[in-house]
Amino acid sequence: MSGKPFRHDEPNRHSRRKALQVAALAGAAALQNGLETRAAENPVDAGPSVPASGLQPAPFPVHGLLENEGKTYSNWTLASTTQPAVYVEPISYADVQAIVQDTRRFPTPVSPVGSMHSVTPTVVNNGGTLVCTIKLDEILGLEKDNKGRQVVRVQAGCRLKKLNLWLQARGLEISFQPEMGEATVGSVAVGDTKDSSLDGAGFFSAAVTGISYVNAKGEICTISDSRDGAEFHAFKCSFGLLGIVLECQVEVRPATLCTSRYSVLKCESPEQLAEGILRLRKACDAFFASIILDKLYATCDQRFKAGPGAITPASSQPVFNSLRMAKRSSIQHGGFQRPNTNNLQPVVKEITYSRADMVNEYWKPTASENRLDFQFYEHDLAEIIGVVAKSYAFTIAFEKKNAFVPNGWAMYFVTRPESARKPYGLYSGGPGISFAFDPIFSNPADPKWQLFAKEYNHFAIKILKAKPSPIQTQWLKTGDLVIPEKLAHPRFTTPYYAQFLG
Ligand SMILES: Cc1cc2nc3c(=O)[nH]c(=O)nc-3n(C[C@H](O)[C@H](O)[C@H](O)COP(=O)(O)OP(=O)(O)OC[C@H]3O[C@@H](n4cnc5c(N)ncnc54)[C@H](O)[C@@H]3O)c2cc1C
Repeated sequence: MSGKPFRHDEPNRHSRRKALQVAALAGAAALQNGLETRAAENPVDAGPSVPASGLQPAPFPVHGLLENEGKTYSNWTLASTTQPAVYVEPISYADVQAIVQDTRRFPTPVSPVGSMHSVTPTVVNNGGTLVCTIKLDEILGLEKDNKGRQVVRVQAGCRLKKLNLWLQARGLEISFQPEMGEATVGSVAVGDTKDSSLDGAGFFSAAVTGISYVNAKGEICTISDSRDGAEFHAFKCSFGLLGIVLECQVEVRPATLCTSRYSVLKCESPEQLAEGILRLRKACDAFFASIILDKLYATCDQRFKAGPGAITPASSQPVFNSLRMAKRSSIQHGGFQRPNTNNLQPVVKEITYSRADMVNEYWKPTASENRLDFQFYEHDLAEIIGVVAKSYAFTIAFEKKNAFVPNGWAMYFVTRPESARKPYGLYSGGPGISFAFDPIFSNPADPKWQLFAKEYNHFAIKILKAKPSPIQTQWLKTGDLVIPEKLAHPRFTTPYYAQFLG
């Protein structure tokens, strides 16, 4: 599987023309700056050892920030740290092509990252080349695609908060609007996500209709759902193992408001808790629950479509902003302050707002701070009562033995498409509803949390038959998930991902 190398006569040539211009400018600037001369003094800056892609006038060095002095980089939790041979922040598509083409200066594996806010070792690439796309973050404009859909063309390094703000200013939105504003478009286009979306699948890649990426030969390829069908949908399940995403086209729609109705469930049994959740979910358009499982307590968010609108109405302020800040702080710190489970009234009962306003910015925490850590598991909705009941029993048994419980559990609901549109990994079970049931804690380094996560992994994956994610589930073992080999090229495959290939 390789995608189609870029052709000048393809649709959407406007932006690729721009990419070529950027590449050409980069090449010219390199010559002017005499970088080739300096390159010889430093092996990493030396000129490319392979011919240029054919898209470039001459071999040229990478202009983006390049670090090869042994610095280390960490993920959000700081539990995974990596020391690549080279870390690079490309500033043009030509940079990305040059990195992939030059196996001498940029050792294999070459792996892309965005904000590095994932919680698993997905960013680990010791001795390889870590390509951070964060400076390729332009929003290139709105287009109608050849199916008549309105799409936004956006570069891979663009963060979701920036994209949401840009669309809000134009009265538009994407359906996937989780709290996480730092995730980058390139990462979520080919990775795993979850959100209880209004009128949407609940995972970002579902709305991605076209992708341009750099393949293992260093060519820019463009694939889309209308032209490439199965190949395109498989690529969206590939975690960057088939190429580095440069740009995406993402379907947009007129912005709508959301009314959230909050309520509290305090139950006598886990079965009662699951049944209460099912009842509340049925009576709304989208549903999310934050659960204190050991106390059989849930704060429920029933979401309703509330008509057109791009920004939170003034009548909802200042309450909405206080709620937003409280939620942001709780997520940042991993639910460190548990709610008072004797309280049977939510702080806010009902509020109308723009979900784009609830997409938040998070600071990268230090090791001494409480910070979100979580484990992700996908289940089929039909299993909800058994999953909640058995997870409750597991949690209570673990508490008795180890005096530890997670701070909370997040429950999201996602609509699965037909398997052809999501052929591998999460949500690939064919049409239906899945729910994510994710334990959350505030200190990734806590040995008891780590033990809980490892033991619950086994329980959830082997006994409850949950699907995990290499980006959102830690402590996975070979066999816990399988990524088809055809979705991975050796140039991009790190040892972390190699263990899952099958
Ligand atoms: C506070 C907080 C809240 C969160 N809330 C949610 C939530 O509500 N819903 C949800 O789904 N997740 C949530 N997450 C998880 C998080 O969104 C993602 O794991 C992560 O942020 C993905 O984006 P990133 O840019 O940080 O990816 P990174 O961690 O930088 O990269 C992850 C992987 O993506 C791939 N990748 C990155 N860039 C590219 C590219 N250009 N081309 C190809 N592949 C690429 C690579 O495999 C890489 O290893 C949350 C995380 C935190 C810390």
